[in-house]
Amino acid sequence: MADQYQKQDPTTQHPKANEDWQQKQPEPGLQKDMTPIPDSGETSYRGTGRLTGRKALVTGADSGIGRAAAIAFAREGADVVISYLPEEEADAQEVVKLIEESGQKAYAMPGDLKDEQYCEQLIEDTVAKLGGIDILANVAGKQQFVESIADLTTEQFDATFKTNVYSLFWLCKAAIKHMQPGSSIINTSSIQAYSPSPGLLDYATTKGSINVFSKALAQQVGEKGIRVNVVAPGPVWTPLQVAGGQPTEALKEFGSNTPLGRAGQPVEMAPAYVFLASQESSYVSGETINANGGMVSP
Ligand code: NAD
Ligand code: MG
Repeated sequence: MADQYQKQDPTTQHPKANEDWQQKQPEPGLQKDMTPIPDSGETSYRGTGRLTGRKALVTGADSGIGRAAAIAFAREGADVVISYLPEEEADAQEVVKLIEESGQKAYAMPGDLKDEQYCEQLIEDTVAKLGGIDILANVAGKQQFVESIADLTTEQFDATFKTNVYSLFWLCKAAIKHMQPGSSIINTSSIQAYSPSPGLLDYATTKGSINVFSKALAQQVGEKGIRVNVVAPGPVWTPLQVAGGQPTEALKEFGSNTPLGRAGQPVEMAPAYVFLASQESSYVSGETINANGGMVSP
């Protein structure tokens, strides 16, 4: 089986979208019900001990990019707490099993990140279960396509900001109290932060906020020996996209406008999270790694 170290042509390494990719699920969607099922590294990510002994919390870890980060962290030697929504239990249990099969501890802690109390409790429970927290990977996100501002409700605008921005504030605030020098916070932005789609007004605005929040926080906590960085994916095949993130008709061409000519798979985001989590990136803070198939970014 090919892994991330085998040289390959990146344009053909993973499939291009076609008509079969047009599908629709209710939000938040389940990875196990997608066709094709995204590659979050279940059989394709090989670890080499880069995070041996680390204690990690990953949000949105049941599916997509968060699942890829959680699997990779475990394969690199970290114990992992996974956060997700209660309705995603089926996907989450697969991730627990994959982490345990890597020889690491896994704890499942479902809840709603729009709730400040859940965010605070999640950090406290992570510290209690793992004996600390060295890595906070904020990957959860809400994306609902709405064509016109006239139809974008205050309720959705608020929920997108609570999920994507407020939760970062609450989780970082609670985690930093416990973090020792050498800890790493990794937030998840998007190509949408610089090249917003017209139908993702609320979502793109939150992704711009995440970039600025991360750069500002990096300035603040540098002296504590804590680094803060961002991964900014391009079009990646995940439940987010089939559960209202894109118009269904657009999915047959998903990712085809990138220079590499195809959608990304979640596993292709994992090495960026691992690099930023590990001591290899000791002099990198306030930075963004764009993993977007070659689209131009600032
Ligand atoms: P995904 O659907 O697999 O993951 C998103 C996760 O967010 C869900 O699994 C869910 O557990 C979590 N979530 C959403 N609302 C929540 C809430 N209220 N409380 C707790 N958890 C909640 O999709 P993904 O594409 O892997 O998304 C992961 C991140 O990547 C998101 O931040 C997304 O904005 C970002 N991103 C994705 C793409 C893409 O094309 N897929 C592109 C750029 C950025
Ligand atoms: Mg999910």
